[in-house]
Parts: sequence; structure tokens; C-alpha cells
Amino acid sequence: MPVIDANLIASMTEWRRHMHRHPECGFEVEQTSDFIARQLESFGIEVVRNVGQTGLVGILRCGDGEAAIGLRADMDALFIHEQNSFEHRSCHDGKMHACGHDGHSAMLLGAASHLAEHRDFNGTVYFIFQPDEERGKGAQAMIDDGLFERFPMKAVYGLHNLPGLPAGSFTVRPGSLMASESSFEIVIKGIGGHAAMPHTGVDPIVVGSQVILGLQTIVSRNLSAIHETAVVSATEFVTNGTVNVIPSEVTIKGDCRCFTEDSLAKIEQNMERIVAGICQAAGASYEFSFINTFYPTVNSATETAHAIRAAEAALGAENINPACDPFTISEDFSSMLRVKPGCYALLGNGTESVGGCALHNPHYDFNDAILEKGAAYWSQLVRDQLKA
Ligand SMILES: [Zn+2]
Ligand SMILES: [Zn+2]
Repeated sequence: MPVIDANLIASMTEWRRHMHRHPECGFEVEQTSDFIARQLESFGIEVVRNVGQTGLVGILRCGDGEAAIGLRADMDALFIHEQNSFEHRSCHDGKMHACGHDGHSAMLLGAASHLAEHRDFNGTVYFIFQPDEERGKGAQAMIDDGLFERFPMKAVYGLHNLPGLPAGSFTVRPGSLMASESSFEIVIKGIGGHAAMPHTGVDPIVVGSQVILGLQTIVSRNLSAIHETAVVSATEFVTNGTVNVIPSEVTIKGDCRCFTEDSLAKIEQNMERIVAGICQAAGASYEFSFINTFYPTVNSATETAHAIRAAEAALGAENINPACDPFTISEDFSSMLRVKPGCYALLGNGTESVGGCALHNPHYDFNDAILEKGAAYWSQLVRDQLKA
């Protein structure tokens, strides 16, 4: 295991708490990004700022090797009012690091510092710090700004903490690790009228009710019971009717999750087919929109094997779960994995009062005890993949 010295652990804790105190959201992470850039520069690492608005890339070259890998952390916080009372609680009311991105950035800074000091690898490491993960736009913004052309790398790796798993344990799987997240909106237009004379109109409530039941057949009748796990949920049903009035319009909104882009396409296509068919049968018209916010997070087999080997060496084989169940949460690192092979993995944040609180909860805090583990994993991965 790479030895992360006590001074560096203390520095990572300090950086992490500084970022926790000063959370910023979305693409508006200017202070955080500047703080990280200045730390990287203080380690002697070249920094390219403003990649995908407020994203940045640190470049550390060593030896004459041409191989390169990317390590990615996210920097953004959430619009949550923190309910913790410890000394490093958020100074920005209504904003909070409730997903641990402060910890992800501190761990990657720690690895950058360690690798810059030891320089015992051969090749190039790109330290990728991205904005706006929570709304699912930051990774794509960096890709659109030429991330993988300007910083050519053979693979990209990401790491997220996970409360409820033992502190420092490492969980991953090849293939689909996390679900997509999509939303849909269906507007059904009928002909409203007097509630006593429904035969004079086209009741969109009846049509909309049939649509909602029809949507339930997508998972049960259009997707493979063996290979395609998915969720299709209608979550809102809004009409413009009132007492004694059949509405002229209903709006149905909802949410879908699945684990492959093939399933995602099938859900969207079958949804529109069902809506169109039921509306046509009833004499109603419709508008349909389907917005995908997060793609499924799909790990490539080779890079997942690399990640598992590095984690075993850095964290101990007994702390690794190499074949976990998939998770229905989502992650915009998925956009990077659509372009480059790579591996996204989860690092246990703890099960006790420190580290056990769920992500996106106003009482959450990143567990500083795992900073060392994350930095050790990153450093080991670099040494394995860019052999000196
Ligand atoms: Zn989050
Ligand atoms: Zn997160």
C-alpha cells in the first residue's frame, strides 16, 4: 500500500473541511476550482483552467512514457441547508456538500501531492476536477470542451464515497454499476365540457388513466425479464378541470431508470407508441417529451480489473467487493464512460454516526478517515497503469 504520510493526511483533512465550509453549486464553483488549482500549482503540477466552464485539469508527467490516464473528482455541492453544527459546517446558507464531493476533491488532491513528490511512475496523469455533477451537465461540458482530445488518455477512472458501507471498503462491478435517470412529460389534449354530458367531449382523464396503466407494460412486456432491469414511474397527474367540469387537458410526468442505453431507447420508443396508440383510439391528441439527464454508468471489463487490482493492493483484498449489485442512483461520470473505457467505483464512507448518514441528507458529512484510503487507491492505480 502506498504510504500516505501523516502530514499529507492532515493537509487533506484541512482542504476537505475548507471546501465543506465554502460549498458552491453547479457550474458556479469558481472559488473551489481556484482553490484546487492553486494547491495543484503548489505541488509543481501544470494546471489548465476553464475546461468546461469552471472545470480544470492538472497535468503531471513523469519519465518518457507515452501512456496516460485520467482520474476524475467532482467539485459541486447541493442546494441543501446544512443541519450539522460542527466547526466546519457550511458558511453558505442553503448550500452544502451533502454528497461528499469535497472529500472526492481532497482525496484526488492528496494523490496529486503524493505522486508529484514521489514521481515513481512513467507517463502522464491527468487530474480532472469537474463542476456540475449533481445536475448531470459538468462531465459533458468538459467533454464538449475537448477534454479527451486536448488531454489524450487511454482510460478514465472515478470514485464516489458511499455511506452504509464500512469505511475504506471498496465496491465495484464490471458492466452496469449505476442506473440512468430520465424524465418524461405527456400532455393529453381532449375536449372538455360539462361533467354531466361526457359524451359531448373527449375526456383526457380517462385517456390519461389508460396511458398510465399502459406504461406499466413497458417493463413487464417490452424488456427482457432476465437482462433488462428498469423502473418506469408516473409521479404527477395534473388536470385543468374543476368541480363539475371535465378538463380539456391532463399532464402526466414521471421518471425512468435502467441500466443500458439499449433499454433506455426501448423505454422511450415504447412509451411514445403507447401514448400515440391510446390517444388515437380515444380521439385525443398529445405532446410527448423524454429527457435523459444521466446515462447508465457502464464500467469496461479491463479497466475494472485494473481498479480491483489497485484497490486490493492499496486497501487489502478483504475490503474489496469486486461484484456488487448495481445501484439505482445515477452519476454523470457515465458521460465520460461513453467516450473512454474506464471504471467508476465506490469507497465506503462508514456505517457509524461518522460516515453512516445517507448522501443528500442535511446531516451528512464526508468521513475524513477515508481520505487516506482514496489517495492510496489513486496512487496505486497510477503506479500500476503507468509502470516506471
Ligand atoms: Zn449527489
Ligand atoms: Zn455525488
